Amino acid sequence: SKPIFAIVGRPNVGKSTLFNKIIGQRISIVEDTPGVTRDRIFADGEWSGKKFTLIDTGGIEPKNDSEILTEMRNQANLAIEMADVVIFMVDIKDGLTAADADVAAMLQKSKKPVVLVCNKSDSPGDVPMEYYEFFNLGLDEPVAVSSIHGLGVGDLLDKVYSYV
Ligand code: GDP
Ligand code: MG
Repeated sequence: SKPIFAIVGRPNVGKSTLFNKIIGQRISIVEDTPGVTRDRIFADGEWSGKKFTLIDTGGIEPKNDSEILTEMRNQANLAIEMADVVIFMVDIKDGLTAADADVAAMLQKSKKPVVLVCNKSDSPGDVPMEYYEFFNLGLDEPVAVSSIHGLGVGDLLDKVYSYV
């Protein structure tokens, strides 16, 4: 049966952009304003002839940091429950945040396979210092991608599939 992959991470890191890039259609809503993804969005995809279901988890317009964190914990729990592999997205332009560390700890506790992805790595030859901060999360080596340009997305899917 088809594996399920779920994308989780802070609002505005680029989850819906990656989702749309992988699925090849603009299904999920991409917005500059955080938290516009309605609840969760599912779509079927295929990589190297193998089918999967992808879930974009999103916030429901959280108003402040505490609401954002609550929403992220809900998303992470949903992903832990439903997914075979969790794609945990962080923003390389922001660097590591407290909310990232909080969610990373939840995911680790669950023992679900987690693939850490540093989005907004728009210049692959030029790795910013922020990339190295994410090694502190104690997850596997982060996969650098640029969802907007589609850079590194194939490597990401290869890594995700290595866990199923
Ligand atoms: P979400 O809230 O995590 O679903 O994030 P979105 O997919 O809605 O994206 C939030 C913002 O980040 C939008 O303005 C996107 O265009 C932008 N964005 C997404 N991916 C990238 C990327 O790889 N590089 C850059 N520079 N911006 C990105
Ligand atoms: Mg979104």
